[in-house]
Order: sequence, then C-alpha cells, then structure tokens
Amino acid sequence: MKIESVDFFYLAIPEVKDIGDGSQDALLVRVRAGGLEGWGECEAAPLPSIAAYVCPMSHSACKPVSASVLGQELNNLSDITRINQLVRRNSFDLLQADHTLSGIDVALWDLMGRRLGEPVYRLLGYKRAFPKTAYASSLFGNTPQETFDKARRVRQAGYRAAKFGWGAFGLGSVTDDEAHVRAAREGLSHDVTLLVDAGTVWGDDVAAAEARLPVLAECRVGWLEEPFVSGALDAYAALAQAARARGGFEVKLAGGEGAHDAYMARHLIEHGGIRFVQIDTGRVGGITTAFDVAQYAHGKGVAFVNHTFTTPLALSASLQPYAGIESDTLCEYPVEASELAADFTHEKLPVDGEGRVRLPDAPGLGMTPHSAALRRYLVPVEIRVHDQVVYRTPEIGD
Ligand SMILES: [Mg+2]
Repeated sequence: MKIESVDFFYLAIPEVKDIGDGSQDALLVRVRAGGLEGWGECEAAPLPSIAAYVCPMSHSACKPVSASVLGQELNNLSDITRINQLVRRNSFDLLQADHTLSGIDVALWDLMGRRLGEPVYRLLGYKRAFPKTAYASSLFGNTPQETFDKARRVRQAGYRAAKFGWGAFGLGSVTDDEAHVRAAREGLSHDVTLLVDAGTVWGDDVAAAEARLPVLAECRVGWLEEPFVSGALDAYAALAQAARARGGFEVKLAGGEGAHDAYMARHLIEHGGIRFVQIDTGRVGGITTAFDVAQYAHGKGVAFVNHTFTTPLALSASLQPYAGIESDTLCEYPVEASELAADFTHEKLPVDGEGRVRLPDAPGLGMTPHSAALRRYLVPVEIRVHDQVVYRTPEIGD
C-alpha cells in the first residue's frame, strides 16, 4: 500500500498560559494508507511543525517533510525505518522536521499495528509488555505548603512514585529549594519514590546545581532531572562526578527529553553521565528512534523512561519502545494534564491499585482520538504561498 494522506490537527485549550504544561495544545497526526488509519502526536509547537510538512523546498537538504512521506510504499515494518531515514536525509536543515517526523512515525506504527492486528510493542519484537510504575508528574507548588499538599494528594491517590518540577524551583535561593524538596518528601512520606525535575533552570551552572545536592541526598531523591540544557554535556558530566564524589546516597542524573535524535540521547549517556534517559517519542523521531535509544541504553545499564506530559495517545506511544524491558520499571504519568488531554481519546490508560500502568493488548497503540470532543479544541489554520493554499485544517471526521 501507499501513504495516501497525512493530516495535521492543531488543537489548543482556549487560554494557553505561561506555565510548564505542554498539554495545553497538541498536534495530532492522521496517516491514511490502504483503507486504514493510524494516529500519532508530535510533541511540539503545532504551527511550525505543520509548516515543516508543507513549506516549499529551500534547497536539497531542506525539503518539506511531505516530500519524503506522501506516496511512499508502506508494506513492511522496514518501510517505517526507511521513511524515517529519508525524512532526516532530505530535511536535515529544517530544524522542526524531527518533531513533525515523530508524529508521523508514531502514526505509521499505529497503522501497521492495526493492519497486522498486533500491539506496537509486539511488532518491535517484545513478547509482552511489563507494567510500569507510574510516577505522578506535577509542578512544584507556589509555596512549600502547596508542594506538601500536592505530595500528600499524590500519595493518597495510590502512586508509588512522584516527580516535582519547574515552578519556582532553582530560581530562588538554595534555602527556598530545600524547603520545597523537604515538603515534597514529607508529603509523600518515606516509602514513595521522590524525583525532582529542575527543567534546565541552571543552564550550565554546575555550582548552582551542586549546591542542591545535599538536600536531594538527604531526601533520597531518586533522580535529579535536567539540571542543565540538553547540550551542556560537560556540565552534566561534572555534576555526575560531584554527586558520586560526595559519598553516601548518590543523587543520579536524568535527562534526554530534549533529544531530537538518537545521537543526542547517546551523547548524554556516554558523555553526560546520566543514569536515566528520558525520551519523548513525539520529539526524538517517533517510536523507531525511541526504540533504538531504549536498546542502546539497556546495553549500557542506563534506565530508559518515557517523557510524556500530555495525552493518553502520546503516553501509549511513549511506553511501546521499552514495554518489554522488565528492568526499566518507571513511567512518567501526567496527573495535571489539561482538559484537552483528558478528552483526547476514547480509551484511557489508568493507574491500577498498585500504582502501575499497563499498555492495552490492542492493535497499534490501542488509542482512538475522540473526534467529537476534539472538534471543540481545533484551531483553524490556513497557510498560503503565493495564491496557493498549501495547508488548511482538514476535516477531523467522526
Ligand atoms: Mg522534565
């Protein structure tokens, strides 16, 4: 069969706020081939990602993503890898192409899963999907008391692990941060895993991050995530070394959500000293690339974890690449996602009584977008070049 159409749907809640919540808008992708449909999602600002699909060719290494996808043969799983590589070869000077490709790649896996009647993880070669312990992912409160209350609620909801991040963390004094970390630990009590996400707040300032190590060790924080921007490998390496040298409880580093390809993730593992690699299938190049990273990390003794702060569709896509690796036990689980994310799909991925998430044993991703609900969030877009409409928000169907 041939890829007949690729459609993008820009969705957003009415008021997008300046907070670290990526579920306020979404870019849903629908691919059609051979009478079948597959769905994917890009983790990206929607409009530039649509533009990367339709923009006129700028030069030979800067083609629109559509040039490498539309009309391509899709008969075997190897065709997905081929298309993934083709997009990268034809669009490597188009920086948003990785985001656009990611949603398409996810949709291609979903489509092939539906065609073959198998969940994606089985197409990847895993015999079964191990349940993952969901860590409740939420933002730090505005005050330590708020952080404490959130942590308490997370614990009462039955989660066995929780992550706090962003908010004011890292922006104020070390004392402020210490109060938040201790409040989180106290709210969770001693038996729930606590993780902390600095959201790249220290840029590449190793000393600023190092000043927080004592409280993170005192509160037995399972990882410190993204102390620095993704490319600051020397800063990652220096902090990892400092954390080891302290002795006693070692604060391990996590990172990788900013990886746009497998090499960025590998470099963080090889040169940044991270012990957890967090991959967003909606950004890294889809399931194809995320699976590569999961296999690589496993070989290096580094744990793979999904990065997902948005919808059940994105969550299912992000769990497939490491579903069958039993020793990778954690999964990010958005607990404060927007109403858009909550309404996104017919199926949900609930957390069970033991705080774990299981992938559906259904073809593809096992997730179907809820068209009627999504229509409320559709952002109508039209892009013209000269007199020609190169993109107009398509019909989402029923
Ligand atoms: Mg993060």
